[in-house]
Amino acid sequence: MNFLVQPKKYTSLMADEGSRAIMNKTIAFFENMGKTRLLDDYNKKVWYREFVDFIGRERIFSKLLTPKAYAEGDPDARWDTARNNEYSELLAFYGLGYWYCFQVTILGLGPIWMSPNEKAKEKAARLLREGAIFAFGLSERAHGADIYATETALTPKGEGRWEANGEKYYIGNGNEAEMVSTLGKVKDGSDDFVFFVTNYRHKAYELKKNVISHQEYVSNFALHDYPITEEDILSRGPHAWDSALNTVNVGKFNIGPASIGMAEHCFYEAITHAANRILYGLRVTDMPHVRRNFMDAWLRLVAMKCYHRRATDYFRQAGPTDRRYLLYNPTSKMKVTLQSEEVINLLWDVIAAKGFEKDTYFHMAAADVRGPSKLEGTVHVNVQLIRKFMKNYFFNPAEYPAVAPDFSMKDDMFLFNQGPTRGLGEIRFHDYRPVFDAFCDLPNVGLFIRQMDIFLEMLEKAGPEKAQDLDPVFSLPLGEMFSIVVYGQLILEQAQLSKLEHDILNQVFDFMVRDFARFALQIYSLPNTRDAQRDFCRAIMLIRPDGNENQYKQIWKKYVIPLNGEYAMNE
Ligand SMILES: Cc1cc2nc3c(=O)[nH]c(=O)nc-3n(C[C@H](O)[C@H](O)[C@H](O)COP(=O)(O)OP(=O)(O)OC[C@H]3O[C@@H](n4cnc5c(N)ncnc54)[C@H](O)[C@@H]3O)c2cc1C
Repeated sequence: MNFLVQPKKYTSLMADEGSRAIMNKTIAFFENMGKTRLLDDYNKKVWYREFVDFIGRERIFSKLLTPKAYAEGDPDARWDTARNNEYSELLAFYGLGYWYCFQVTILGLGPIWMSPNEKAKEKAARLLREGAIFAFGLSERAHGADIYATETALTPKGEGRWEANGEKYYIGNGNEAEMVSTLGKVKDGSDDFVFFVTNYRHKAYELKKNVISHQEYVSNFALHDYPITEEDILSRGPHAWDSALNTVNVGKFNIGPASIGMAEHCFYEAITHAANRILYGLRVTDMPHVRRNFMDAWLRLVAMKCYHRRATDYFRQAGPTDRRYLLYNPTSKMKVTLQSEEVINLLWDVIAAKGFEKDTYFHMAAADVRGPSKLEGTVHVNVQLIRKFMKNYFFNPAEYPAVAPDFSMKDDMFLFNQGPTRGLGEIRFHDYRPVFDAFCDLPNVGLFIRQMDIFLEMLEKAGPEKAQDLDPVFSLPLGEMFSIVVYGQLILEQAQLSKLEHDILNQVFDFMVRDFARFALQIYSLPNTRDAQRDFCRAIMLIRPDGNENQYKQIWKKYVIPLNGEYAMNE
């Protein structure tokens, strides 16, 4: 069994023919293009015209991103988070740039599908059918994560007309997006936030440049007295503000799968290279430390996939009374993306110079992999978000009906009606403990539980005092420590559902125990950690995984080394 995406033996998670056709056509598009051309375009930073044309011709974004109600009866159209995640993984498997075009189209559509403006929605659906791409114009150069400081302004001109002025920076697809959902403030004395639509073809829209050096287009554009009418207004006041944050919630969840897709392709290249390279008369993969890197990389990949798969069920089941996705989403965003960086680091240490060669997918991913953890909220921003849930997660569990794996063909419409973004600290979670207990016989899960118990005792008996809580230098590693528990919980839930082999799970928790200890060391080493806290951290740090050589060798033999030669992209 291969846990990684293998395009040449592709099995979609989707049961319906329409979805499978989307995946298969996309694979065929890239495999026909071939690796030489794909990498040449990447290295020459060529805008992916053919890809955009292909997507339009096959109506792929239209099918993936139009809710049924606006799809004029297309049986394949729906907004299905599981399907969009699968597609993200596949696109990034071939190149993060292609995924980015999809991603910013998703973001651009967020404020539109969230809007009460029916005409704008119908227009978006039509444009999607015609093959358009979209953009999300939130960021401004000077303000980064501080959206409050947005300077782009709508000035009233009377009779339902306004003029937009301002400059946006880092806006993907801004070179060709038919609808750019642009955030500004209304300069009528209210300073209300407002989302309005602009179009790159308009003469008042100045496309200044691509801010980055890449085949994807991350634009800087300026609006000069750009005329806006009621028809262009998507939302205003608190609705516009909530649309911004809720759209980021939707987009954020697509980033983990992209990171996974990149790491998977790198894995195939790396192991095929190393297993066929002889040094000192020895296969590189016969060196114990090299094996360890591959094992760690593979186990981390399996864990990333388990976590994200399970989180998707919660995403699809979300509703006004179940907002647990708001924790599982930033956890995916910061953990899965950072894990992908770690996987690529582990592989790169093995393939060394090969990873720089311009005819490898690897060299492209090695450069691009740093992006996902920084987009749509940096790791810091996401960890700060996660911390808000810690108290209720540990100390105030609630009962919820069981959440089954969800591959239904429904639209995930709650995502466009998430409501106000406040009240995060009040969200409650089902008890995390039973699923850990269900696997406590696995030695490394048992050890992880011991670490978790000590961590909890630390929170109860020597929790952060106010000054530590307010100091991100302290609170961020504490948040990371919390996030590893959430990560472990959903990995176990997925393992239970998919009946993951216990040997694999035990080996996954080998690195989880090591990671827990690493975070404990971070807190231990801070200048403002109290002695009592250090004692708990020391106790966590001193727990080491239960090495099982036999189990390790079995997994290597059964799952990891067989990936040598398993996949190579068509030349
Ligand atoms: C390739 C690329 C594509 C992008 N595409 C788009 C797009 O299509 N549309 C769009 O609108 N934007 C886009 N962005 C912008 C992206 O969303 C921003 O990069 C992101 O919001 C962070 O802003 P910043 O990078 O300027 O960092 P800053 O906000 O300047 O952050 C500086 C530092 O402060 C920390 N920090 C900031 N706020 C907090 C906080 N609340 N808590 C803790 N720490 C904090 C950060 O972690 C960071 O270390 C893109 C960016 C890139 C690089």
